[in-house]
Amino acid sequence: MYKGYRVQHNNILGPYKGGIRFHPDISLDHIKALAVLMTMKCSLMRLPLGGAKGGVQVDPRSISQNELMRLTRRFTSALGSNIGPERDIPAPDVGTNAQIMAWMVDTYINLTDVPNRTLGMSAVTGKPLEFGGSHGRNKATGQGLVYVLDEVLPEMGMSFDGATFSMIGYGNVGSWAGRLLCHRGAKLLAVLDHTGAIHRDGAGIDAEALARHVEAHGGVAEYTEAESIEPKQFYRVPVDLFIPAALEQMVDLDKAKVLQCRVLVEAANAPTTPEAERYLLEQGICVLPAILCNAGGVTVSYLEWKQNRNAETWEEQRVDAELRRHMFAAAQRVKLAAHRYDCDLRTASYCAALENIGRVYHTRGIFP
Ligand code: NAD
Repeated sequence: MYKGYRVQHNNILGPYKGGIRFHPDISLDHIKALAVLMTMKCSLMRLPLGGAKGGVQVDPRSISQNELMRLTRRFTSALGSNIGPERDIPAPDVGTNAQIMAWMVDTYINLTDVPNRTLGMSAVTGKPLEFGGSHGRNKATGQGLVYVLDEVLPEMGMSFDGATFSMIGYGNVGSWAGRLLCHRGAKLLAVLDHTGAIHRDGAGIDAEALARHVEAHGGVAEYTEAESIEPKQFYRVPVDLFIPAALEQMVDLDKAKVLQCRVLVEAANAPTTPEAERYLLEQGICVLPAILCNAGGVTVSYLEWKQNRNAETWEEQRVDAELRRHMFAAAQRVKLAAHRYDCDLRTASYCAALENIGRVYHTRGIFP
């Protein structure tokens, strides 16, 4: 028996939208908090989507592929008509991937009346390319983060060229952000994941080679082209950008006190505790909030949903151009709100998101 959850937080802007997580430590409160963040994120990005989140309490590495498929299909059938293209649209998150999304949508379609099956394809996003997925979805969250940095780094007198960075997590989000930042001329100095921590000064870590290693071995441990270090040392490595891209609340006050960075870029959802954030801001370290930095994933999910509904497949350049436009506009919104309310960027991102939802409630009024 496995425990599964789906939380639907708000759908004033459109169908609920949010990832499905497979992890042993999830709880209902945890999923509720992540669903709220999805409402904020979709609103900040001005997407016609609401906020949801879901998951199953399981370590996907501990079961076979066949068991994983059966678990996914059983969970999807239990969700029944609570999900759907007009109702609630799941996507991948920690511990899930395009294959799992394919099993989800295949189950959904098989439980749908024949006339609605084509539309049924848009009930889940983050699908494999050959089965209704979008070009650019795999890298979308990392790519979106790079576009946000494109918009904010120059104002801080920084550029990608020669900027150094370290990351917690080298999964979907981490490995794409790492590779794309290195393509732009930045240097990856250290990585920590669930298997260990590695460090390489000078030329830095080869982000592509590390991605191949993680793909083959499941983690960064035993990557021979970098030195293995203790997790405690990892947090002390001086870098320009510190990028947590793993789980929630990993950067607490103790970790924040030893960080030596100029900007903390939240690639994971809620990776920084409130105490840690207060401390970092007092030290003059900029914290770029997750609902902006990692919104590239849901934005390309929205583009995938749009393509499925029109039975279209866009080229990668078109997806990237749309993503860039959305990320730039959202970064501008956050900067404007920070200026208007004279506040930090996280508060500003929530202001920009809530103002939009507030306007929609006000405009729509109450039925009947
Ligand atoms: P993933 O499962 O692909 O990768 C998770 C990474 O976290 C792995 O590298 C893993 O080793 C690391 N990790 C797990 N436990 C750890 C620990 N105790 N210490 C150090 N590292 C640990 O997940 P992902 O899809 O890359 O998601 C990462 C974060 O980004 C999550 O917060 C997720 O909600 C968020 N996010 C993901 C997407 C997406 O499109 N996948 C979109 C928006 C936000």
